[in-house]
This record gives sequence, structure tokens and C-alpha cells, in this order.
Amino acid sequence: MQNKKIMPVVFTGHGSPMNAIGSNRARDGWKKMGLYLGKPQVIIALSAHWTTKGLMVRRSDTNPQINDMYGFPKELYQVHYEPNGSKAYADQALSLLGPGATVNNDWGIDHGVWTVLANMYPAADIPVVMISTNMAAGAEEQFAVGRKLAPLRKEGALIVASGNVVHNLALVNWDMTGGYTWATNFDTAIRDAIMAGDFKTPVNFTALPEARTAVPTTEHYYPLLAALGAANIEDKVTVWNEYQELGSMSMTSYLFEAK
Ligand code: ZN
Repeated sequence: MQNKKIMPVVFTGHGSPMNAIGSNRARDGWKKMGLYLGKPQVIIALSAHWTTKGLMVRRSDTNPQINDMYGFPKELYQVHYEPNGSKAYADQALSLLGPGATVNNDWGIDHGVWTVLANMYPAADIPVVMISTNMAAGAEEQFAVGRKLAPLRKEGALIVASGNVVHNLALVNWDMTGGYTWATNFDTAIRDAIMAGDFKTPVNFTALPEARTAVPTTEHYYPLLAALGAANIEDKVTVWNEYQELGSMSMTSYLFEAK
């Protein structure tokens, strides 16, 4: 185990799977972020695309790639990303999460995670421990999951939560580059709260006027709350990849670093 340096926490928007390849802003941001952060011992990945009833942790030496997206160009399916797992870190995560979390090896590294990590760490040489998004739990419990995992930051682990602050597939407009006004408003309200050290507003997001449209289903939003839970209110916060795309999707991402 490395020294007791406190590792950062990342929340990243992933958006369209096509962000994984070609030339685009998200990809540029992921590449830069990987170079900036350097290599951690392990990545603890919380994915919007592994939705479960109950909290699940993959405990395995391997991570089969899951191409859980359909109808995209064949180039996308040629991306290969299968980093090792880590049973030792999975055990640490399970121990911190307590009896509410169980081992589940039925899933692997889904596109919410590999689209991001294939660009942050293209060599796939850092082990990844996958953790699900528990859809049987509410917003405060998502925050609590991050809080429980926070001690791993002292054990060389980079926590990467992948989702989208605004994610409304029904309202996606493929011809639109920016975001609808309601999408921008919600994204900005969350950003302003986080930058002000106010994590309660994101947890209580349903009180925001645009919440029903911005977060019609919670699976892409919940990883943000886990990231906030793992972050310390004293951490330096950097907003990156801050933009909306396809009208109804926000790519806005956050980096939390110990001061
Ligand atoms: Zn997604």
C-alpha cells in the first residue's frame, strides 16, 4: 500500500457512448484529466449503468467489458478495455460498506466506465473495482455510500463516479450541440451549490424547479451524490468538461482534491 496521501475523487459525465472515440470535447477532457492525475493504485468505479437492487461490488481479478449500448457504428465496438480487477481492494470496499453491500460478479466494466477510462488511462494497466448504483436506495443513501468509501482515498484509490448531472434520453436532440435552457439552469444550480461547499442542495435536488425534466430517472444522477459523499467539504473543487450536449444532457464533471 502506498503512503497516506489523500487521493482525489472524480465525478465525470459520460454522455453518448460515441464520446469514447473520434474528436470531441469530452474525450479531450478525459485524456487531460488522466495525465493530470497520474496513475493511482486502483480505480474504484461507480457506474450509472450497473443498476441493481441492493449495493453490489465486483470482487474478481478480471473485468469483462460489457458493450451495453446498441445501434452505434462498428468503430465503437472495436474499443477494447478490460483492466484487471482487485480482490484486495474489493474486500476493503466491502468492509467499509458493511452488510448493505454484497459481492456480485455478473457484471463487468460497462460503457459508462470504459468510455471514460479508455481515454483517461488508455493502457488499461490500473485495476478497477466496479460498484453498482443501488436503485433501491434514495439520494441520502447514495451520498452515504461515498462517505463510507472515502477512507480508500488514503489507500491509493482514485474514486471515479460516472453518470450525468442532467440526463433525459426522451428529450435528446441529436441536432443540438448545446443544452435546453432548463438543462443549463439545473446544471448551473448544482454547480453553484457544489462550488459554494453546499452538498445538501445536490442531495435534495428534487426541490430544484427543473429536477423532474433534468433527472427523470435517477441512475445517471446518483453517482454524483456518491462522489460528493467521498469528497471532503474542504477539498479544492475543479469543474471540468462543463457543457451540455444533445439538448438534454450535461457533461459537467468535477474533481475534488485534498488541500
Ligand atoms: Zn450513460
